[in-house]
Amino acid sequence: MGDGQRFVIVGASLAGASAAESLRENGFTGLLTLIGEEPYRPYERPPLSKGYLLGKEPADKAYVHSESFYREHNVELRLYTRVTAIDREAKEVSLGGGDRVGYDKLLLTTGSSVVRLKIPGAELAGVHYLRSLDDSEKLKQALESGGQVAIVGGGWIGLEVAAAARHHGASVVLIEPQPTPLHAVLGPELGEFYAQVHRDHGVDLRLGVGVTEYTGGDAVQAVTLTDGTRVPADTVVVGVGIRPNVELAVDAGLLVDDGVVVDEYLRTTDPDIFAAGDVANAHNPQYGRHLRVQHWANAKDQGAAAARSMLGSDEPFTKVPYFFSDQYDVGMEYSGLHRPGEYDDVVYRGDPASREFCVFWLKEGGVVAGMNVNVWDVHSDIRALIKSGEPVDRERLADPATSLGSLVH
Ligand SMILES: Cc1cc2nc3c(=O)[nH]c(=O)nc-3n(C[C@H](O)[C@H](O)[C@H](O)COP(=O)(O)OP(=O)(O)OC[C@H]3O[C@@H](n4cnc5c(N)ncnc54)[C@H](O)[C@@H]3O)c2cc1C
Repeated sequence: MGDGQRFVIVGASLAGASAAESLRENGFTGLLTLIGEEPYRPYERPPLSKGYLLGKEPADKAYVHSESFYREHNVELRLYTRVTAIDREAKEVSLGGGDRVGYDKLLLTTGSSVVRLKIPGAELAGVHYLRSLDDSEKLKQALESGGQVAIVGGGWIGLEVAAAARHHGASVVLIEPQPTPLHAVLGPELGEFYAQVHRDHGVDLRLGVGVTEYTGGDAVQAVTLTDGTRVPADTVVVGVGIRPNVELAVDAGLLVDDGVVVDEYLRTTDPDIFAAGDVANAHNPQYGRHLRVQHWANAKDQGAAAARSMLGSDEPFTKVPYFFSDQYDVGMEYSGLHRPGEYDDVVYRGDPASREFCVFWLKEGGVVAGMNVNVWDVHSDIRALIKSGEPVDRERLADPATSLGSLVH
């Protein structure tokens, strides 16, 4: 299928590599070019704040495919190459080196970039961000040398880095303007759960304060907080969020609104251009609205789904969002969405103090989101409960002795 055609994928990471794999699996025999600006073949990012940063897993484990995969599947992998523009009329992309590559169908999997805090001292050595393999390698070396680490931001990245820093024996101060870590994502009670997990591992949490500047000579020596406190630090890690890499799409005149806007087939406003992964704000029929999901499973699944759409499939993308996080001996999975106003009840199954529990967010009796902490092999049932949308028996949902599968209609 597709003989004589060329499909081009911009962004050689998880979504892009999954799309390339899916195109070949689904019988695409045309030319296939995967272009990425990083020097490495596509890799997964979760290990960068977990196994790799902890020094427990080699970089090799992070790669999406073996080196030979691209050759064996006839995927032209152009690394170290930035796409600088899309010419929709000529159906060509321009590359940093000046080349142009034509396409019949184009997939944008350009992902996200970190938001940088622009405060005095931002350019000092020792101030780190974490997005790429190179970032993780540099940060690992800094953490291995111990010392004092200040983490700015109590989101998932900040918390996972705190756990890695403690693992390497560094002393850690975590600074978060909200009253708890993960406050906006999980709310105060579960935010406090994570705060306690970190306190128990010796992290000094400074909550309700921000940072105003980094100070030092050539390298950072301290962080100044909004309450005037000075926190000594040899290493600062900033994890204050990410933003989608939409510049190419904007310049090409595609519809962009908190990501590249795509329909349920992951098609942009140009029928020959698709988008998937962190960069895509996709209409999800399960939710009846657009969602931009910045997680591993979404990148993997949407990459594959976009490939099928590029081949003409009319199967909409309806997956329920899913992600995971590991910190010390606390592993969790989260499925669904529970934004404010989208739930009216919360049910716990098990005691958070035991660090083995599930929590469910309900709307009109049906489960809209669920999180399992150190309880395993349940996320498929949780996702099935969310998909069904049917009201569940609250008492049985709360009872760890009742199998979650038995509640799925
Ligand atoms: C440290 C870390 C830990 C994480 N942990 C978890 C976790 O535990 N669980 C979870 O669910 N998710 C996690 N995530 C999120 C997950 O990794 C992302 O959702 C996923 O990487 C998104 O994949 P993507 O392919 O859409 O984009 P990205 O991974 O962002 O890749 C996009 C690629 O496109 C390239 N690119 C961009 N513009 C251009 C251009 N113009 N030309 C050429 N190339 C370009 C970029 O350089 C990049 O290589 C983590 C992320 C990070 C950074």
